[in-house]
Formats: sequence, structure tokens, C-alpha cells
Amino acid sequence: MVCQMKKWNFSAGPSVLPMEVKQRIQVDLEENMSLGTSLMELPHRGGQFQSVLEQAVHDLRALLNLPNDWHILWLQGGARAQNTFIPLNFIGLKSHHCADYIVSGHWSETSFSEAKRLGFDVSAYPALGVHSSHLSTNPDLLACDVRDHVSYVHLCWNETVNGMEYASQPRLSDTSIPLVVDVSSNFLSRPIDFSTPACFYASAQKNAGIAGLTIVLVHESLLGEPLASCPEMFNYSEIARVGKPLNTLPTFPLYVSSLVFQWVLSQGGLSVMEDRAKQKSNRLYQFIDTSDMYVTHVSPTSRSRMNVVFFLKDPALTQTFLEKAAQVGLLYLRGHSAVGGIRVSMYNAMPMEAVDDLIAFMQHFEEGYLCQA
Ligand code: PMP
Repeated sequence: MVCQMKKWNFSAGPSVLPMEVKQRIQVDLEENMSLGTSLMELPHRGGQFQSVLEQAVHDLRALLNLPNDWHILWLQGGARAQNTFIPLNFIGLKSHHCADYIVSGHWSETSFSEAKRLGFDVSAYPALGVHSSHLSTNPDLLACDVRDHVSYVHLCWNETVNGMEYASQPRLSDTSIPLVVDVSSNFLSRPIDFSTPACFYASAQKNAGIAGLTIVLVHESLLGEPLASCPEMFNYSEIARVGKPLNTLPTFPLYVSSLVFQWVLSQGGLSVMEDRAKQKSNRLYQFIDTSDMYVTHVSPTSRSRMNVVFFLKDPALTQTFLEKAAQVGLLYLRGHSAVGGIRVSMYNAMPMEAVDDLIAFMQHFEEGYLCQA
């Protein structure tokens, strides 16, 4: 049996944090205790927390190389709440009040369904004939025939559930249509080009911190008048105009994110994260592609670097695989219930060593069954 000593958290989110960040949290908590107020007790408009917030803004801007005409909004409710607030904020950008949604998997279908449920004039591309869980190739955006009068086009850059990611930054053939992009599970794993007006949004609990904080990046040209039904607390234009959060931020998650930003900077920034992500995922995909026991259905051009989804060719072995993996410290590998199989989430904080340990286990598991056959 593989003798696995370390434990690795392959969860899709909330997920692994850098060790340096966890250690720093411990030290900071101790220090603050001696000052009489721990970090969790600081008033959100007080000087100490304000400097954490200012540093977070400074570091995130530096990491992303974010132009001055882009705003960072710190929100709550996760990416799913933005599925409601995105149409309320952006559908009125053009008089036709309509939007198109590229459906490339579970989360983009969820976004589309919410906009539809709210009664907006939205279309899905490709048409929702096939359940998104069974897609294996991303829709080709340049061939995508979106309506030219839409206020925006929504898509999800990395489909966490399906293990599918657009290999390069998604672009439409008509670049004047704003893209609204869910980057929840690949945020901070690669540079983003901010040269065309758009909006990117992410829950923090994968690559950018812990659950509780949602980050929205938006170009100022998208900040018009939201629909009257948009709650004030989620009026993106108003939050950007005021220039600070309207209510009490989740202060502790924001502080953790600020440490994550510093960690990414200290590692060399987003290009370094991108290289590492490629190396880790390539190594795992190469192993899967050459094995007789495992298979991925995602076509090579659509494979996610963050979430590798694969199956045991004999599905009856999946449960044993998961149990044995957990016994040797390879944790949270079960695929999402919409898809099944195995999902390996390898966010920025996951070292190559973890991927090597996983591959060693998979190899050993395969050999054990081949011997029996
Ligand atoms: N979009 C993507 C790409 C996700 O991975 C997730 C969460 N796994 C969500 C949206 C929903 O995020 P939340 O639960 O924070 O609302």
C-alpha cells in the first residue's frame, strides 16, 4: 500500500489555503489578543481594519494590474447571489433589455436559469438541448451567434463541476458587447486582460480566501442606472460611486483574502500561478490519458487546470477508490453529484507534491486491480 503521511485537501471549495497564510493568521490572532481586540472583533470603520482593507485593495490592484477605470466591489452572497444582481444591474445597459448566456456547464446553466426565472429576455447558447453536465467541449465563442443588441453576454470561464475551462481568455467576435464572466474557480490563477469593458466576479473561497466574501471587478462603462428593483446593497454603481462598502464587510474573510493577495505577490504573481497550474494539471491529465483504469471525457482543448474531473472505467470501483484515497490522506475527491466520478481541485495553494502523491496512489490502485484481473 502507498504510505501516505501528509493529508491533501482536494476540495472544490472552500478549499486549501497557503500554509504561510494559515500560520500568519495564527500569529496575528495571538498578537491581537494581547492588544485586547482580536481581528474578529475590530470595528469595520475603525483605523486598524481600514488599513487592512486599503492594503487589500492596493495588493489586488497590483496583482491584477487593474486599470484605474475598473472598480473592485467587495460583496457578499457568493457568486450565486450575483446571478440575481447581474441582470438587475446590467440588463438596462441597452434599451432592448436582453442578454445572452453561454452555457458551458453546471454554473453557467445556473446563472442562465436565474435570469430566466426573474423573467428577463435571456437566451442560452448553445440552446439547452443537452444537459450541461454532459458537455465535453466548450462552446466556440467566435462562432457564437449572440444577438447584437444584447446588454451583455454572460459566461463562466472555469466550470468547477464539469472540469472545463476556456484555455485562453474568452472573447466574442463583437468585442463591443460587454462580457460578464464568472471566474469563481480560476480567479488569481492566471493574468486577465482588462482592455475591453467587462465584469468579472468570484466567490473568494477557492483561490482568493475563505467563504463569505465575493469580489466583483467592473469597468466603469458598465455602471449605469440599475433597474429600480435592484436592492440598494447590490447596486454596483452606487457602491462604486461611494468608493467603499455600503455595509459591514465580512471583515475576517477580507483579512484572509488580503493575506492571500500578499502570498500570491510574494510567489511572483499571476504568471507564476498560471505556470504552476499548467504543470500540475498537465501531469495529472498525462497520467489519466495513458492509464487503462481512468478516463476523462473532457476534450483536451477544454480541460480545466483547476478542477480535473475523471472517471474509473469501471464505475463500481469509484467508492472503493474514494475510501482508499481518504485512508491515505487524499481528501475530498468525490465528483459533484451532477456529474459523479472523481474531481481533483488543485488551486494555487496546492503544491506539486500533492499531485505526485495522488498519481502515485492512482497508479498503485490500478496495479492492484490489474494484478487481480
Ligand atoms: N460559480 C462557480 C464557477 C462556482 O464554482 C461556484 C461554487 N462552487 C459558484 C458559482 C457558486 O458559488 P457560491 O456558492 O459562493 O455562491
